[in-house]
Amino acid sequence: MKYPLTKNRWTAIINNDATKDGTFYYGVKTTKIFCKPSCHSKVPNKNNVLIFKTIDEALNLGFRPCKRCQPTGKNLPNSLWIKQIQTYLALNYQQPLTLIKIAEDCHGSVSNLQRTFKKVTGQSPTEYLTTLRLQHSQKLLQETNYSIKTIAIRSGFNSDTYYNTLFKKHFNQTPQDYRIGIQS
Ligand SMILES: [Zn+2]
Repeated sequence: MKYPLTKNRWTAIINNDATKDGTFYYGVKTTKIFCKPSCHSKVPNKNNVLIFKTIDEALNLGFRPCKRCQPTGKNLPNSLWIKQIQTYLALNYQQPLTLIKIAEDCHGSVSNLQRTFKKVTGQSPTEYLTTLRLQHSQKLLQETNYSIKTIAIRSGFNSDTYYNTLFKKHFNQTPQDYRIGIQS
């Protein structure tokens, strides 16, 4: 790592220390969002934190500015915030996610998340997430011999019954039939 997460920097992050603003920025690997030390967002998992000296470093590595603390000094347009959320979902769809967790990790409120996501993409965040999960499950059905239950869990569904129902609704066939169909 180019700039270490020193004890002082970590303390500044935990305490939302505004006196350290401008001396460094921090990004979170699991969200690809970067913040000022003073940001009031939830304290991230220490293992996922990267330190940047400049805004450009963060941007060049594909990190996006936080909606809440606005490290670039500019208001984050909704379209960019939604891109952030889509990146976050693409990185985390295999985890159990709730709307509260998504909103918290992407630094917004649940109501704003639902409203803005739908407005920008035409889909609800839950629909978008389900599509990502179903697509991943199709890949596993094609490329592995995993049981349907394992595929459901590895794709982020919490039960295979629920997974079967959603799969059928989206593709008009069961996962089993889909698998047979691509093998024959
Ligand atoms: Zn922030």
